[in-house]
Amino acid sequence: MFLSVFDIFKIGIGPSSSHTMGPMTAAARFLDDLRGGAEKIPGAGTLASVQATLHGSLAFTGKGHATDRAVLLGLSGLEPATLDPDDAERVVEDVHKTKTVAPPDLPTLGFDPEKDLIFDYGPPLEGHANGMVLRAYDTVGNMYHIETYYSVGGGFVMTEAELRAERDGVSVTLHAEKEALNFPYPFGTAKEMLQMGAASGKSIAQMKRANEQTIHGDDLDRGIDTVWKAMDDCISRGLTQEGILPGGLKVRRRAAKIHSALQSERGNNLAQPHVANDWLSVFAMAVNEENAAGGKVVTSPTNGAAGVVPAVVRYYRDLCVGANDDGVRDILLVAAAIGGLIKHNASISGAEVGCQGEVGSASAMAAAGLCAALGGTNEQVENAAEIALEHHLGMTCDPAAGLVQVPCIERNALGAIKAVSAASLALRGDGQHFMPLDNCVKVMLETGRDMNLKYKETSTGGIAVNIPEC
Ligand code: SF4
Repeated sequence: MFLSVFDIFKIGIGPSSSHTMGPMTAAARFLDDLRGGAEKIPGAGTLASVQATLHGSLAFTGKGHATDRAVLLGLSGLEPATLDPDDAERVVEDVHKTKTVAPPDLPTLGFDPEKDLIFDYGPPLEGHANGMVLRAYDTVGNMYHIETYYSVGGGFVMTEAELRAERDGVSVTLHAEKEALNFPYPFGTAKEMLQMGAASGKSIAQMKRANEQTIHGDDLDRGIDTVWKAMDDCISRGLTQEGILPGGLKVRRRAAKIHSALQSERGNNLAQPHVANDWLSVFAMAVNEENAAGGKVVTSPTNGAAGVVPAVVRYYRDLCVGANDDGVRDILLVAAAIGGLIKHNASISGAEVGCQGEVGSASAMAAAGLCAALGGTNEQVENAAEIALEHHLGMTCDPAAGLVQVPCIERNALGAIKAVSAASLALRGDGQHFMPLDNCVKVMLETGRDMNLKYKETSTGGIAVNIPEC
């Protein structure tokens, strides 16, 4: 599967790509099935109502991650990229009041959130920790259509059949797809990426650009600029908002206050050198506070880890000597290349491999991107990604109260700091290093598979069960 820069960086809403954007996207696909009349169960009458059952992590932490709201919105026909937050509030109220959903180009369908949105706290479905079954019924309660979806991280959604097909024949399918689309640099591993770079004399950014142009042609830069603008707007908005984040943990937003302190310290000769870390932190925290509040964010590669890449890009743009627009584009292209490799060969889902797959992947992506923009060789870029990922290995996902707040907001700040350090360390070397990125990605997957379920976005262990009463 070729993952475009626009698959990795999707503009959407918070607080979670797997728990908010994924279920909305699944609902949109289900509505499309109903519109197309696909797989209507034989003997079913007139379409009349819908029902959703959430399994695994979607059930355990769905309320904290606003999955319930996302399902209502998705079944009402709203989609993450185009959602208007004010409109969304009205739609949620209407669904609760009328106990129906009214998706475009379909009849109004019965859906009582109290009865028809089911949180199944039993064992997760076999396919993935984030499972969701959508059912439609006719007027007398006969099954009309049923589909199982998995939200596999970063807002990506697969049906049961798609997931099985990918697991059964990954290499053949991937190879065939690459051949069919004729990408000039079809690398599926970091090793292949370095080999193709050496053979062609191209940088990773140039190879990724050439691949993307196969699909997006002359629109590529405009699209990347739109992604960066959405990231930058999110930082800017987060730096001005104050108050308590929703969800009941009473977590106070901190980015605005820290930012105003940093601004007033500008030009102070006595400022400590580590203040640069505070700038990185505040940019990341601004994004993750916006995400926690359900604001507009860009998956990077997920919502929970959405602060790392934007913080590093803004750090590059505001603080690095010689920064320019091409450098910003290169960061995002290279970050997407690394994110694609990690998703393809392991996972970017906290429910599947813990936070090493979310903030760890984001940090590796940002490190590689920054290293490239600062003139690193391909080997140094691969080294930067490996350093950042290696030092997130084993990191669990145990968000307090199932909310993407503690530890997630600060964790993004630290992920951004590690990314810059990793890029800098790699730039001080010659690209030769002990652990190849591919091996590190494999270790992440194996560690994630061995990780106890209570540390994989179920909020049943770790930080989630060791917080003081609020
Ligand atoms: S702990 Fe990490 S993986 Fe888990 S929700 Fe928070 S950011 Fe995502």
